[in-house]
Amino acid sequence: MKVLVIEDDKEIVDAISLAFQIRWPEAKVISNRLGQKGVELVETEQPDIVILDLGLPDINGFEVLRQIRRFSSVPTIILTVRSDESDVVKGLEWGADDYITKPFRQLELLARVKSLIRRQSPSEETLLNFGPLKLDPVTGQLMMGEKEIALTVTENHILTFLMKNAGHVVTHSNLAEAVWGDDYPGATDSLKVHIRRLREKIEKDPSKPKYILTKTGVGYSLTKPE
Ligand code: CA
Repeated sequence: MKVLVIEDDKEIVDAISLAFQIRWPEAKVISNRLGQKGVELVETEQPDIVILDLGLPDINGFEVLRQIRRFSSVPTIILTVRSDESDVVKGLEWGADDYITKPFRQLELLARVKSLIRRQSPSEETLLNFGPLKLDPVTGQLMMGEKEIALTVTENHILTFLMKNAGHVVTHSNLAEAVWGDDYPGATDSLKVHIRRLREKIEKDPSKPKYILTKTGVGYSLTKPE
């Protein structure tokens, strides 16, 4: 298990290295402060996961992401500063699989990493069907009728859980556990961002969702539109 951290803030790099050292000592953490060098390392080191800061000294994180996605689908988590939700949305659009806001807690970081790694290992899951939606949880391939929709790894986790519990309300806490293997403060806000992105992909009018309904203060439910 190899982790590549592309981040110019030494304190953050140290915090990430320490988190792995304590809780996941088999993982090898390598890092670089420059975006361009980071892209090269994805090619030469073949990491299992990339943790990418958006504000780098040479080229910005979006550009790094764009270059990585030309040749690699390595799971990538972007690091953002709380309050920059537009950066998160842009990052997910440009091919990031998940995001984490600084400052973060060790458990939160590792939960996200593990969730993306877990998704890499093939499982026995069968195709899920719901109305016009057909999802293969193993590959993350979603068909809506004839239309193919690209999901991030995290969106795939969320939709898989919603489809398995279709017609029922799933709580924020249950959903966070299914997606990240852990529930922690802040998970509800993250879910909100990913759910919004999912709605933009599957709802006709994302502001008036018909599939993924919000149960205020509780969670979400997947329903059949009338
Ligand atoms: Ca930075």
